Amino acid sequence: MRAPLEHAKSHALFAAACQLIPGGVNSPARAFGAVGGEPVFMERGEGAYLYDVDGNTYLDFVQSWGPMILGHAHPDVVAALQAALLKGTGFGTPTEAENDLASLIVDAVPCIEKIRLVNSGTEATMSAIRLARGYTGRDKILKFIGNYHGHVDSLLVAAGSAGATFSVPDSPGITPGTTRDTILLHFNDVDGVKRVFKECGHEIAAVIVEPVAGNMGCVAGSSNFLYELRHRTAESGTVLIFDEVMCGFRVGYGGAQARFSITPDLTTLGKVIGGGLPVGAYGGTKAIMDHVLPLGPVFQAGTLSGNPLACAAGIATLKVLRDTNPYPALERKAAYLAEGLEDEARAAGIPVYVSQWGTMLTLFFLRHASENKQEVADRIHSKTFSGSAVEKTTATSTSGNCVSEKIVDWRTASNCDTERYAVFFRGMLQRGIYLPCSQYEAMFISNAMTDADIETTLNAAKEVFATFETGAG
Ligand SMILES: *Cc1c(COP(=O)(O)O)cnc(C)c1O
Repeated sequence: MRAPLEHAKSHALFAAACQLIPGGVNSPARAFGAVGGEPVFMERGEGAYLYDVDGNTYLDFVQSWGPMILGHAHPDVVAALQAALLKGTGFGTPTEAENDLASLIVDAVPCIEKIRLVNSGTEATMSAIRLARGYTGRDKILKFIGNYHGHVDSLLVAAGSAGATFSVPDSPGITPGTTRDTILLHFNDVDGVKRVFKECGHEIAAVIVEPVAGNMGCVAGSSNFLYELRHRTAESGTVLIFDEVMCGFRVGYGGAQARFSITPDLTTLGKVIGGGLPVGAYGGTKAIMDHVLPLGPVFQAGTLSGNPLACAAGIATLKVLRDTNPYPALERKAAYLAEGLEDEARAAGIPVYVSQWGTMLTLFFLRHASENKQEVADRIHSKTFSGSAVEKTTATSTSGNCVSEKIVDWRTASNCDTERYAVFFRGMLQRGIYLPCSQYEAMFISNAMTDADIETTLNAAKEVFATFETGAG
């Protein structure tokens, strides 16, 4: 038997944090509510690894929830930050670094001709929605259940693991009026898109979508679905927004839109483009972007936007990605991990669905059909909403001995066995593998990870799977 990891210092720090900060965390995604136990306090990161305050080492598949595609403390990023730091940390004036980061992004992302830098992904989506409404003079927006676009009031409906109902806010404090103009559809629901656009396309200011969703676990949009969105929005003068805060510069240099060859009107970015510092951005065609103040009437501002340190880290990160093109190697490693996890789970008789796209992946633990067919049917029924009343889902149909073998939207994702994920998470943590503390967050591969790291992970998974109680019911 292995000795359990010691977490005495983490435990003490968490107890202190809970007296100072709600739940002891500055973002709820860091809480361990879904998996049990207490969050681990990290002290430093280097390459593929995180080191906690108790001296434990972890292979990191969270990567600060996405940004650290080069691994932690990459020498180029550290050097860029050191150089920028000595020149001062912010002036509230334009700087050359802002041009440099903007031009790297404009060159890489097909839809972006002009860009505004902000401080987070949430600011980016909030601003893009406002701009789309200001530009079109329309109110309605269409979003997809299980897509997360930050904690913008009007977008905080059916945003991933929170409950999905008809335009009912996911949080107290958001008035029904705020979300009244938010139309919801299931992700990858091509017929739903056709129907909504036929009914009221001319009233819709914007469609916002994660082309490769990462906030219900990794679930890619089908090209059919994304094509339909492009086609319908173009037809009805609706602004198509790709929220690439997570998948931008992660599924490829140029993001999902370059991979799908589908160009939206606006794109929101964050995470990778900040190299680990707080950055977001929104950009698109000149015609739309020139509606932003001071050129146009749509207000958007930020005291620290384009901050020199944030720009330095972002520029250094994007230059490494541009000049070394690590994507094919990253994707090969991600596929190796995805296939390995699937094989090990299958060998242990555990029903899973592994979704991998670029450097994002999720191991979904499926339920055995006999466990909860009625429960699934009930859940799906309760999620029927008048905005898209067609809910003849296939999620209740069984294939093999599992409920739904393919995960394509929140209906199918939300049925996963999160308790089994929690057991997996804790077993892996004990073995020094740091996974997202929720079934519904994607794992990321970093360029600092080696094949040996992936093998270590697969061996750990095999050990953990062997501890599972398998069998239906
Ligand atoms: C993380 C994320 C956001 C929000 O970004 P923050 O920087 O956390 O505000 C928005 N959209 C998507 C797709 C994201 O993954």
